[in-house]
Amino acid sequence: TGKLPFEALSVETLARRLGTNAALCAKIGRDTTQWKVREVGDGNLNLVFIVEGAGGAAVVKQALPYVRLVGDSWPLPLKRSFFEYHALTRQEARAPGSVPAIYHFDEGQALIIMEYLAPPHVILRHALIDGRQLANIARDIGLFMARTLFRGSDLSMVPKDRKADLALFADNIELCDITENLVFSDPYFDAKMNRHTPQLDGVVAELRADRDLKVEAQRLKHIFAANAETLLHGDLHSGSIMVTDQETRMIDPEFAFYGPMAFDVGMLLANFWMSFFSQRGHEEKGKRDAMRAYLLGVTAETWAVFRAEFSHLWRTERTGMLYQKSLFEDQGDRLGAEQALDHVLHQIWTDLLGFAGIEVHRRILGLAHNADFETIADEELRASCEARALKFGRHIAVNRRQIHSIDEVNTLAALIEQES
Ligand code: ADP
Ligand code: MG
Ligand code: MG
Ligand code: MG
Repeated sequence: TGKLPFEALSVETLARRLGTNAALCAKIGRDTTQWKVREVGDGNLNLVFIVEGAGGAAVVKQALPYVRLVGDSWPLPLKRSFFEYHALTRQEARAPGSVPAIYHFDEGQALIIMEYLAPPHVILRHALIDGRQLANIARDIGLFMARTLFRGSDLSMVPKDRKADLALFADNIELCDITENLVFSDPYFDAKMNRHTPQLDGVVAELRADRDLKVEAQRLKHIFAANAETLLHGDLHSGSIMVTDQETRMIDPEFAFYGPMAFDVGMLLANFWMSFFSQRGHEEKGKRDAMRAYLLGVTAETWAVFRAEFSHLWRTERTGMLYQKSLFEDQGDRLGAEQALDHVLHQIWTDLLGFAGIEVHRRILGLAHNADFETIADEELRASCEARALKFGRHIAVNRRQIHSIDEVNTLAALIEQES
C-alpha cells in the first residue's frame, strides 16, 4: 500500500484496504468477514478506528491532509503520522511499557496500526471529570516524563544520535506552528479562531491589556522555539493519556519535536490544575472536596516523582556530552554533580510554571478547549470556574521566578478556588 496515493480510510473500506496487511491479520485474524470496524476519533486532528476480528483487536490511526476539527480549509501535512510513529518508538525504548505497542506503520497512507487499549481503559480527562481518583497516575506519568525527557537529551545521548534526531523532528514544522500560535500568541489578542464563554469578556479584555503577561508569554514562546533540549511528547495533556485503575499509557505524540524539558511537564500539570478548577462545575452528584485535594496531591506527587527519577538518571546514566562525569564524579567531586543537577532542575521548575500558566489560558481563550470546562452546561458556573483558572494561570506565569515549591502553587490554587 505504500506506493498508492493517499486515501482516507472509512468504516466501509478499511477491511478491503487492510485485509491483506500481515501485521494486522496476525493480531486480529485474517478472516475479514469477521472484522468489525468503528471510528472513535474524538481528537482534533485524525481518524482513529478500532478493528475487531476473530483473534483480537487493534487500533488504526490515520492522519488526514487537514485539521479534522476545522475541515479542509486548514490543510495539515500527513507527515505528522511519521513523527508520531518515530516518537512512539523512542518513548517505548526510553520508558518501556508506557505507550501502545506498534504493529505497523505505513508512511504513504499516514497510518499507524497499534495496540488497542481496551476498556476499562478510558481517557484520563474523562476519568477526572467523573471524579475518579486514580492511584498510580502521578507515579506513572512522573516516571514517563523523567525517562523520556532525560534519555532524549544531550545528558544521555551521544551527540551524533541526538543531532540526527534533532534534524529528523525539526521537520515537524506545521505542528510546532500550531503550538507556537495557538498556545503562546492567539489567547492574548483577538485571533480569528479564538472563542470564550461570553461572561468572560471583561476578564479577557484585562488579560489582553496585561503587558507583563504578554511579555512573559512571548519569553516562554522564545524558550519553546529556541531551546532544542530534548524530544518532547509535545501534546501531553490529560486527553493524551489512557488509564485503568492500575495502568497508565501515553498516546498521540504527533507534536513531538526537540524543545525545552519543562514544556511537557508544565502542560501536563496545567491539565491537573484545570481539572481542579473545573470540579465545582461537576458537583451535581455530590461535593468534590476530596477530588480537589486528590488533584493537588497528584500535582505534588508527579513533580516529586519526576525530580526523584530525573535525579536518579542524572547520577546513574549521565552518558551524554553535558556535565560529564570526568569533570565531577571521576575527580571525586560528587558535590559538583549535585550542584549542576540543582541548576538544571531549578530551570525546569521555573519554566514549567510559565508553560502551565499559558496552557491554562489557551484552553479557555483559544481554539482548542477542553472537556473539563466544556461539559459544564451552566454558562455562569463554567465562567466562574474558568475565571479562577485564568487568574491562577496569570499568577504562576508572571511570578514564576518568585514561586519556590509545588506546595506554594497548590496553596495559591486553593486560595483562588475559595474566593467568592
Ligand atoms: P488525535 O491526534 O486526533 O487527537 P488521538 O491519538 O488522541 O487522536 O486518539 C483519539 C481518540 O481515539 C482517543 O481519545 C481515544 O479515545 C482513542 N484512541 C486512540 N488511540 C487509542 C488506542 N491505542 N487504544 C484505544 N483507544 C485509542
Ligand atoms: Mg489526541
Ligand atoms: Mg488532539
Ligand atoms: Mg493528536
